[in-house]
Amino acid sequence: MNAYVSGIGSTKRIVVWDTTAGRIPDDQVQFIFGHESGHYVLHHIPQEFAGSAVGLFFLYWACAGFAAWLLARFGARWGAAEPASRTGLVVLLFAISVAGFLLQPASAAFSRHFEHQADVYGQEAIHGIVADPQKTAVAAFNSLGEAWLEDPAPSSFIEFWLYDHPSVQSRANFALHYNPWANGGHGRFFKN
Ligand SMILES: [Zn+2]
Repeated sequence: MNAYVSGIGSTKRIVVWDTTAGRIPDDQVQFIFGHESGHYVLHHIPQEFAGSAVGLFFLYWACAGFAAWLLARFGARWGAAEPASRTGLVVLLFAISVAGFLLQPASAAFSRHFEHQADVYGQEAIHGIVADPQKTAVAAFNSLGEAWLEDPAPSSFIEFWLYDHPSVQSRANFALHYNPWANGGHGRFFKN
């Protein structure tokens, strides 16, 4: 079960897998659709593109420096002094994989931020359409967590390092307590 938003220009689309639409109640599908429409309305795809472009620029710049340092320090032993050589390319790829591993938590946090925004948007989008947005969102996370065989209580270190979505447990917990309409208030993205 899953859904996604993808595409540029006229190819933009929200896809809800048929296995999602057929297996859970309609209100939960509406919440999932609301989440995906949040990615669309809040321009997450262009923001992620821009963020990746800026991030990769500095990442590769730093990696070129790191690879040059490695070659200056160990190049004689490795039989390569020049970055522009076959060994130099391998050293550069090594530097990129080390940096990619170390920066994994930063890119995961960036992604989790957008996913959380889409969760908030999705829950606000179904307000007034379903009877109880909190209940629907929690039920949807339970359905997804079951279908995905999610770890119900992942270690917070693993979540910090690897999860590009908040854990299903923390998403459900947020949804359960998110009720901006109490006492006549309104949501973050919808003013009614
Ligand atoms: Zn999402």
